[in-house]
Amino acid sequence: MTAWAAREHHRFDAAGRPFVYLVPSAGIFELDDAAAGLLRALSERPRTREELSAFEDVDDAIAELARVQAIGEVQEPPRPVAKVIPLAPVPLTTMVLNVTNQCNLSCTYCYEYGEDKIVDTENGRQPKFMTEETARDSVEFLLREAGTVAHITFFGGETLLNFPVLVKTVDYARRRAAEVGKQVDFSLTTNATLLKPEIIEFIADNHIGVTISIDGPKEVQDKFRVFNNGAGSYDLVAPKIRELLKRHRSRPIGARVTLTSANMDVTRIFRHLTEDLGFWEVGFAPVTTAAVRGHAISDAGYDRMLDQFRELAHEFLEAAVANRHHGFSNVNETLEELHKGVSKAYPCGAGLGLLGVATDGDVALCHRFAGSDAHKVGSVRDGIDRSAQSAFLERHHIANKTDCSLCWARPLCSGGCYHEAHTRYGDTGHANLHYCEWIRGWTDVCLTIYGELAIRNPAFLARFEGDHEASPVS
Ligand code: SF4
Ligand code: SF4
Repeated sequence: MTAWAAREHHRFDAAGRPFVYLVPSAGIFELDDAAAGLLRALSERPRTREELSAFEDVDDAIAELARVQAIGEVQEPPRPVAKVIPLAPVPLTTMVLNVTNQCNLSCTYCYEYGEDKIVDTENGRQPKFMTEETARDSVEFLLREAGTVAHITFFGGETLLNFPVLVKTVDYARRRAAEVGKQVDFSLTTNATLLKPEIIEFIADNHIGVTISIDGPKEVQDKFRVFNNGAGSYDLVAPKIRELLKRHRSRPIGARVTLTSANMDVTRIFRHLTEDLGFWEVGFAPVTTAAVRGHAISDAGYDRMLDQFRELAHEFLEAAVANRHHGFSNVNETLEELHKGVSKAYPCGAGLGLLGVATDGDVALCHRFAGSDAHKVGSVRDGIDRSAQSAFLERHHIANKTDCSLCWARPLCSGGCYHEAHTRYGDTGHANLHYCEWIRGWTDVCLTIYGELAIRNPAFLARFEGDHEASPVS
């Protein structure tokens, strides 16, 4: 006799209706009450058709759940997570160019200079600044490895400490891209301390995307984002940011906030950055650090952060229903992934479509590993080391992360950031198990927002169907 069992899924309610998120396909479906009740029962244990006969509209409900593949017959063997490694080289889409590893701030929690740093940027073999020649070699490398559209993100240290090379690289990349019939687009990340009129002019005239690292109002910013002498940076950066926002209007400018145990007032930071300073969008990221550091976020801290994210996400929802802009970029990015049915074998593009280039031209998984020999996957002069890249892809596939194999959030999380894993566990291949509850909680919030929008303003979701700018790098 046929018995039915639920496949891996996560149920949630939105706009008073039941929904299901299907893990194998990353599909999202609204259910009717009969199908939702049946699925709930089947998640407890498999049941035969006879055992289900008391359920309302049982045959229709079975048919509907089988159609969307939320349930299957129990004699089907369990399906392990498929391990599909890309065979052909994946085109490079984003090259993060670390034009310097030096910084004029000494942020206490910095992954590049703090106690958790991977590369010795003070005494190591890496030059402190990328030369114009290495930057040109990097452009040639990108144009060889990219498809028709290539993206260069300038990064540091503090990126603007090497502004002259940035200027030359933009000019060179534009010219060379036109010669080989490709398009190139630019962005940069900066702490804003070195912005001045001529730099702002250049950035605006060249339509360079900008992400500013800033933590919020003065007392929050000045807690960690300080100069060598301990002086806070807020008073210096605030007027410069206002100038930039006034002059550079061709692209939305975003703020990127690092949350720490001492800096968790998400709503207040968001209000300050959007309403007082005028940022178009704000993205928040918990600090990457070893658990023992004072600024590390505890389990209770993650719970608090989730509550605040939920509150802001609901504010985003009401704005989206009314077709008003809301700048909480974390929710926007997750909604886009949900809408596109993203199901990741790897947590991010690092080592695949995204690579980081160190000041000497060594190529690493991403900007956070740039300059680390242990995470090197080639150089801009010699190209990508395909065997190192394949070994990386083989070892870091989600199918190898047994801790994640039963987790419903794995299509979006896929074990989480390699750099975070390296800092916490000393192994880029380790799943980031310290933040699973947070990831699942946040994914559930975004699913709820998604379901609400699907009912109340589906046109809002349709806008995710076009191409979008690359996500900011942090
Ligand atoms: S790291 Fe945790 S939340 Fe992420 S996929 Fe693995 S088990 Fe799930
Ligand atoms: S998520 Fe982590 S590993 Fe991936 S690109 Fe970002 S910092 Fe690098």
